[in-house]
Amino acid sequence: MVRRQTSPTMSLDKSFLQTPSPTHRLRVDTDALANNWRALDAVSGDASTGAAVKADCYGLGVDTCIPVLRDAGAETFFAAHWSEVPPLLNHVAAEQVAVLHGPVTDEDVRFAIATGARPVINSIEQAQRWKEGGGAVCHLMVDTGINRLGAAPSELSDPIFQSLDIDILMSHLACADEDIPMNARQLDAFRGATTMIEHRRSSLANSAGIALGADYAFDLTRPGIALYGGVPRSEFAGRIRQVAFLEAAIIQTRTLSIGESVGYNAQFTADRSMRVGTVSLGYADGFLRARGNGFALRVGDVELPLLGKVSMDMIVVDLTNAPELGEGDWLDVPFSLPDAAQQSSVSQYELLTVLGQRLRSC
Ligand SMILES: *Cc1c(COP(=O)(O)O)cnc(C)c1O
Repeated sequence: MVRRQTSPTMSLDKSFLQTPSPTHRLRVDTDALANNWRALDAVSGDASTGAAVKADCYGLGVDTCIPVLRDAGAETFFAAHWSEVPPLLNHVAAEQVAVLHGPVTDEDVRFAIATGARPVINSIEQAQRWKEGGGAVCHLMVDTGINRLGAAPSELSDPIFQSLDIDILMSHLACADEDIPMNARQLDAFRGATTMIEHRRSSLANSAGIALGADYAFDLTRPGIALYGGVPRSEFAGRIRQVAFLEAAIIQTRTLSIGESVGYNAQFTADRSMRVGTVSLGYADGFLRARGNGFALRVGDVELPLLGKVSMDMIVVDLTNAPELGEGDWLDVPFSLPDAAQQSSVSQYELLTVLGQRLRSC
């Protein structure tokens, strides 16, 4: 397990002015991340396995995750925005980076050509912009039913698409985490598309799509959430390991008297005298109010229930079960994505990607 680097010291020349260590931390288990990529690669069969790395690797940090995924064997990396490209180029070659939003402006085209990162063309307009700007190799997204980004299969015969030099022809599944007929319909539509336009590689499956079987794997799979510890389908239970671990320290303790309340809107009222701890974690760190009710922090196997509302920078826990704890002691914030999603009704994707910048830089 590797800790994220601590934040750099301030640019003051007095060396004693080191930024103090933070009172919460996000740890990324890089062994688990590599394990998850290999597990998904094994299920991908003959297909090669890429990695969706948009949104700063789903909130876990490009600089932490990309070298691990690259060294595990990933060769194609999917970003959403052009602004996400430069940090990736510190770790992988530009032609390995695919930008899903495509060239929406001429500036995007110039940036793509200058860096060598490859756009995913999504529309006739984007194809024209790419060709007119002098673009060469690209990828093409065909829409088979999610109706978000991508060209319609009926448009693929358009000369502008036919004139593209396409590496990856791809589509995206809308419901791969469910067992419904739409998956097979999208599969058929995508198979049809692969016969309509020249391309080097084809790609359909996200994490959940990989579990749908070899038919869905094509040449390249594009897992995201399962790399980072998400379990979008039960087939992955037991194979995908938790990657993100969250810890926060107690920064004050106090004893409540009967009838005293805790936090905003006085949502919790003590019905007995009880010792509580204020913990350095809040919704500004991505620990949302939706996770408050019925949730507990832990120390070892001991549960410390949350009391009252989650504040921006703090939560309060009941220390009755661990009277030895005091200021400066660290608590675990249970962060198994499937469990946390079930407990909070926040999706596994959102739980990760809302992790606050303040926490990520720890
Ligand atoms: C985000 C994304 C992925 C990865 O999806 P997961 O469900 O996180 O595995 C794959 N392909 C495309 C086009 C995406 O936008």
